[in-house]
Amino acid sequence: MKRQLAALLLTIFALSLTACGETAAESETRTVYAMDTVMNLTVYGENAAAALESAEKELHTLDEAVLSRTAEGSELYALNTSNGETVEYGADDILPALIETALTISDATDGAFDPTLAPVLDAWGFTKDEHRVPSADELKELLSHTGCGKVALEKTAVTLLDGAQLDLGGIAKGYAADLLRAQLEKEGVTSATLDLGGDVFVMGRKTDGGDWRIAVKDPADTESYLGVVSAADKFIVTSGVYERYFEENGVRYHHILDPKTGCPAESGLVSVTVLCENGAWADALSTACFVLGPDGALALRDDLADQGADFELILVTDDGRVLYTDGLTDAFTPNDESGYTYEALA
Ligand code: AMP
Ligand code: MG
Repeated sequence: MKRQLAALLLTIFALSLTACGETAAESETRTVYAMDTVMNLTVYGENAAAALESAEKELHTLDEAVLSRTAEGSELYALNTSNGETVEYGADDILPALIETALTISDATDGAFDPTLAPVLDAWGFTKDEHRVPSADELKELLSHTGCGKVALEKTAVTLLDGAQLDLGGIAKGYAADLLRAQLEKEGVTSATLDLGGDVFVMGRKTDGGDWRIAVKDPADTESYLGVVSAADKFIVTSGVYERYFEENGVRYHHILDPKTGCPAESGLVSVTVLCENGAWADALSTACFVLGPDGALALRDDLADQGADFELILVTDDGRVLYTDGLTDAFTPNDESGYTYEALA
């Protein structure tokens, strides 16, 4: 509950900045609790109320009927308990499409994004908020059931081999934002902000024609902010140590695992913000870049840029530096009072 309240306060904080300098325009806002997080959706224009109604429905359906790890009626739950049987889906079904995207990104990030960490996340108790520290032997055994090689995808048929199970928590909210965007476009909406608990999509421009302004949270003090990004038609997604964690014997264990060790990633980063044109990619890349650390994240950015997939990064290191990539030189305004050292990368 504490986490939900904190998320709600932060979201309001972020959106109050988003709204800086806006002229009054017809808009509606709705707070939705789905995918284990508090979401704030604001839609501008005449169709706002109807569009929000269908967006909220879509989010609940996606969560409860498709992507939830814990709801027994969800498609993901059924797949994870299919005991190696092949599960067939329809041509338009979301789950196989999302699995395909997750496998592609896992491959592109050399396994830093790994959608098969479900058993390891369960062992740490992140799935049901029943936290514990697994032993090294337990982690070794669990890691023998992970890896995308254990996921066979043939068009829309999925088989999980060798006891593999999927956790799509690192990509699901971004993918949901992609689907909401498509739905809003179909409904004629041109201006909206969707904050799915740290996965933000700013649609079009503000009604006065200006860019949106999005506050990026300070990972050490989430009531403060690192800086403000100006953007239009972009996904801005942050993965940070503060989002989900527990403490035991004075050690903090957070929820982003290094697929090589099965332990919380210690990469020298405390938060990663990704800006890009696609929600699922922004979400999965923020998780992967967190695992890869500063050098690995920047190398991945270069690699993907060579393949035509551009994204920008704001990296916060554990020694108090904020590094931001060249595409943000004009778009990112540091908060000079935050106490961080800022480095604009060439
Ligand atoms: P995010 O907040 O988007 O970085 O996603 C973190 C969530 O993704 C966790 O709560 C897990 O459900 C899942 N996860 C943790 N580590 C990884 C990883 N290395 N690759 C993919 N998903 C992960
Ligand atoms: Mg993510």
